[in-house]
Amino acid sequence: MIRLKSPEEVELMRENALLVSRTLAEVGKHVIPGVTTLELDRIAETFIRDHGAQPSFLGYEGFPNTLCISVNDVIVHGFPSEYRLREGDVVSVDCGTYYKGYCGDSAYTFACGEISEEDRRLLEVTKASLYEGIKQAVDGKRTGDIGYAVQSYAEKFGYSVVRELEGHGIGRKMHEAPGVPNYGKRGNGVKLKDGMVICIEPMVNAGSRQIYLDRNGWSVHTYDGKKAAHFELTVVVRKEQADILSTFDYIEKP
Ligand code: MG
Ligand code: MG
Repeated sequence: MIRLKSPEEVELMRENALLVSRTLAEVGKHVIPGVTTLELDRIAETFIRDHGAQPSFLGYEGFPNTLCISVNDVIVHGFPSEYRLREGDVVSVDCGTYYKGYCGDSAYTFACGEISEEDRRLLEVTKASLYEGIKQAVDGKRTGDIGYAVQSYAEKFGYSVVRELEGHGIGRKMHEAPGVPNYGKRGNGVKLKDGMVICIEPMVNAGSRQIYLDRNGWSVHTYDGKKAAHFELTVVVRKEQADILSTFDYIEKP
């Protein structure tokens, strides 16, 4: 069952999306060598609560924190910890809010200090693959068109996309139908309709697409130990082009 959102609901979701975007920017200011990922988590929780919202990840199916912080070979669902970030780390931060009855969800991969040219390219390509996916989020296309666009873009650079995890619809619940895979065939999958709100979130590995689950039961690692990146935005499917609710502008153009 896919529920289309009314214009009023879309505006409430935009408020959520922008709060998540601002939270990520606040966290990003503190992604520097020496900070612990648990300190970043506290910054995000305080910021969200100060804005009258709640962290939606905290307690979600038992998840213990406000943020998923996934460093280097951790692709997604990393636990904040006492680990101190180091120069050269690649740090994915995924954040969710619950506000006025709706959910927000967005992710950005930050560079900690100076990172290698190779890692810089992984981040740039992953982010660009997200925007390639967003171009397909228009009425009448299908989820497979999004997946194809993400996958074909990332693979051109020799990277691989994770298949076991995917984007999703969002609304009153953080994960709603449909699933939005980061791979696929054009013309396949669920048909997109004006008013659908979805999160597109490519997870791209520098090496092979094989993964393994950490013994904590949550964190997903690259099998070969190479780095991964993850970017996520929330968009509304529209007739001509998607309306992008969240933004990286607070991070990139402060
Ligand atoms: Mg997310
Ligand atoms: Mg998501």
